Amino acid sequence: LTQLYAPLNFLGFIYREIKNSLSDMERMFGILDQNQEIEDVPQATPLDTRSAEIRFEHVGFAYEPDRQILHDVSFTIGAGETVAVVGTSGAGKSTLSRLLFRFYDVTEGRITINGHDIRQYTQLSLRQHIGIVPQDTVLFNASIYYNIAYGRPDASHEEVLEAARAASIHDFVMSLPEGYDTQVGERGLKLSGGEKQRVAIARTVLKNPPILVLDEATSALDTRTERAIQDELYKITKDRTTLIIAHRLSTIVDADRVLVMDQGRVVEHGSHTALLQANGVYARMWAMQFAATEEGTDV
Ligand code: ADP
Ligand code: MG
Repeated sequence: LTQLYAPLNFLGFIYREIKNSLSDMERMFGILDQNQEIEDVPQATPLDTRSAEIRFEHVGFAYEPDRQILHDVSFTIGAGETVAVVGTSGAGKSTLSRLLFRFYDVTEGRITINGHDIRQYTQLSLRQHIGIVPQDTVLFNASIYYNIAYGRPDASHEEVLEAARAASIHDFVMSLPEGYDTQVGERGLKLSGGEKQRVAIARTVLKNPPILVLDEATSALDTRTERAIQDELYKITKDRTTLIIAHRLSTIVDADRVLVMDQGRVVEHGSHTALLQANGVYARMWAMQFAATEEGTDV
């Protein structure tokens, strides 16, 4: 039984993951504006690119002094590439994205974009280059229109509608009696998980960032919705430098590379095919997922 427990526990990330996810990221951003700990250096320059190569170089990180969370993490996401991160809950996956946003600064090593330490860029410009599609989108108590336009407040009406079409939510919105003026959020119309995620995708399409961070969620969505959203997500990752905290088999298989994390370390790193051949942690994880899929379980 104990032999069974470890792989089952590992599989658990597929179903349960991320309490501590990017879903909080947007809320955190509100806090971040008041966070005086991370400041621009005096000579900070704006990041200004459509083509971003991201490197983590020997990154170490601790939220608290005596508990190291990340250990010597190194990887590269080439401009336009997609890297999927998989691993057990608490492995440090979300921490990678928090560091990329500079919600915190690394304690060892560095993160670079196009060869320059992200601490040399202004925070504002850094964040303008990064779009997040969180696992659980928080909607404002406002119209659907506002919730999409938030991605780029100076966008034209037509651009907002185009983003909604790209995220396949336009037809749904038009079917509502009040259309784009429909109030959503806690005090308005409750949208389903899939609808909320489409709003987040529309927001991100409108923002049009060169860097994407996606936190996949599957448990809240039915299989059909999930598949449809997968297609939309795939479209927006094309030609963008993308970090995905991945749960879906299709994402993992299609990624240029997969990082397998465990206890703050990158334990395996390579293409899906190479990792299967290596016959290690990832191969075991895959075998478990595959078995679950064969039985008709949604992964
Ligand atoms: P994952 O996304 O892989 O589930 P996280 O990156 O969220 O993991 O967390 C990695 C570790 O860091 C966990 O042990 C978690 O408890 C810890 N951690 C996360 N956020 C904080 C925080 N704000 N303060 C202290 N520890 C944290
Ligand atoms: Mg997480």
